[in-house]
Amino acid sequence: MKAIYPGTFDPMTNGHLDIVERGVIMFDSLIIGVAENKRKKPMFSIDERVEMIKKSVSHLKNVEVKPFSNLLVDFMKSERANIVLRGLRAVSDFEFELQLALMNRKLNPECETVFLMPNKKYIFLSSSMIREIAMLGGDVCELVPPKVKEYIDIKCKNGCI
Ligand code: ADP
Repeated sequence: MKAIYPGTFDPMTNGHLDIVERGVIMFDSLIIGVAENKRKKPMFSIDERVEMIKKSVSHLKNVEVKPFSNLLVDFMKSERANIVLRGLRAVSDFEFELQLALMNRKLNPECETVFLMPNKKYIFLSSSMIREIAMLGGDVCELVPPKVKEYIDIKCKNGCI
């Protein structure tokens, strides 16, 4: 079975990576779908996000990283995948994730969503928290993959964060 793990990944965190590492055990192949999401005005460009994820998952087999800017169900059709993988942290994620899963199923009745829970040490970790800590000069090295840390450091050095 082929699954797609969609998200903005601005930037990828150890929580995202934890979900990917659990997903590769469950599925024959996994595509990390990086949503361009211009509306959210991401800190990292779509190319940067795809690059840093590729470098962070290079140790895993059967994982591909692809950008998309269309509707998730259309991206899934083009990739011939019926399963959406999403991460569930606290209860606060649940309502939004349920809405999203049911909407995706309405748009494509064959679309099923699978939720995985990360290790509890990542429950309170989010991309927005990483951006906030980096912006204020804090150390994020235990919270993101080493390759992501390099991209954050470059942005900080150039004064872009
Ligand atoms: P989106 O903009 O679609 O919410 P994100 O990049 O924030 O994209 O997250 C993508 C997916 O990863 C979502 O299912 C989200 O719940 C999950 N996720 C985010 N942070 C974590 C974490 N620390 N642990 C587990 N799952 C996470």
